[in-house]
Amino acid sequence: MFLNLDVTGAHVLLCGAEERTARVAAKYVQAGSISHCAAQGELSHLPTAAPSLVVLCLSEHEDAAGWASAVRAAFPGAVVTLDRSEPVGETGTVYLIGAGPGTPGYMTARALEVLADSDVVLVDHLSPTKEVSQWAPAAKIIDVGKVPGEHKVPQRQIDQMMIDYALQGKNVARMKGGDPYVFGRGTEELYVCERAGIRVEVVSGVTSSIAVPARAKVPMTLRKVSHMFTVVSGHAELSDAELDHLAGFVTSGGTISLLMGVRTLPHTVAGLLARGVREDMPVGTFEDVYRENERVRYSTLGRASEDLADVRPPAITVIGEVVAAGDESSEEARARRDEMLALALSEGRDKKA
Ligand code: SAH
Repeated sequence: MFLNLDVTGAHVLLCGAEERTARVAAKYVQAGSISHCAAQGELSHLPTAAPSLVVLCLSEHEDAAGWASAVRAAFPGAVVTLDRSEPVGETGTVYLIGAGPGTPGYMTARALEVLADSDVVLVDHLSPTKEVSQWAPAAKIIDVGKVPGEHKVPQRQIDQMMIDYALQGKNVARMKGGDPYVFGRGTEELYVCERAGIRVEVVSGVTSSIAVPARAKVPMTLRKVSHMFTVVSGHAELSDAELDHLAGFVTSGGTISLLMGVRTLPHTVAGLLARGVREDMPVGTFEDVYRENERVRYSTLGRASEDLADVRPPAITVIGEVVAAGDESSEEARARRDEMLALALSEGRDKKA
């Protein structure tokens, strides 16, 4: 006898070893039988509400009768069912690949090696997309790219796609702009895959936070000028505590590389000025670098709100003395740059800023 249960929205409890429950959850979600939410629940913890269906995810060596009676005693009203399915063949590997700042030349040798061996590639909008079909000739290529404010494929769905393909035995390359561990949700994706029993390799990439300003010859550190740098997300407005910290940091010679900070730039600039950062502190914006609309502009903290009002994402804003090292936009800027570089080249110990 076959029974089709529609358990959408029901509270389903999966019992068994975590790797096994995660596989079964992925299978049920794929079949559309249970909501994603139910499958992503805290599988290893006791449920807070009584489940209406309990699926025992056990190997043939585990005692199904013992489990069933324990579960029936704990949840008298629940339907109890058994799933002994084994994974079909080997699972694939998920590679979280940093694809660099947007130009093919910054793909690492390891990234190209794993792409060549991939069956599925999930690409992000900041990774170089044109060349992917050459790098991964046998792969199915799926664009899951996100543009600010308009998430093309929701994160949960991306997670599920990686899991589903890997469980089907496919090697999945997840390409992300820059480095996967710099504002790239790399750790979250690693975690959900590992929780489903899938092997993951992180392939570091060249982060745009350094490489994008470098394209305009703006360094992060410079002898006798800057001995530290920090990478900041401006996705949400910076807090008072963060602004307090950054104001002290940049004033004492640190360099700030601000990512995803276009929308919140007026707030950041005002916050730093209000905390006493010099009005003539150099600021550079590096917009859509390595692409058609690439644009580099220089300003100062005091003038930034006006000068940089029309910057469009993706862009990186660098705040700090070192910005002057790349600025050749005027005679005056060139003179400032030469002075700074002469200092860096001069003999003597580095001054700690
Ligand atoms: N993991 C990435 C960063 C992701 S956050 C890395 O390590 O580079 C996305 C932000 O990166 C964008 O909003 C923008 O601030 C920056 N960015 C990435 N590529 C860029 C490019 N080619 N030009 C300008 N900014 C870029």
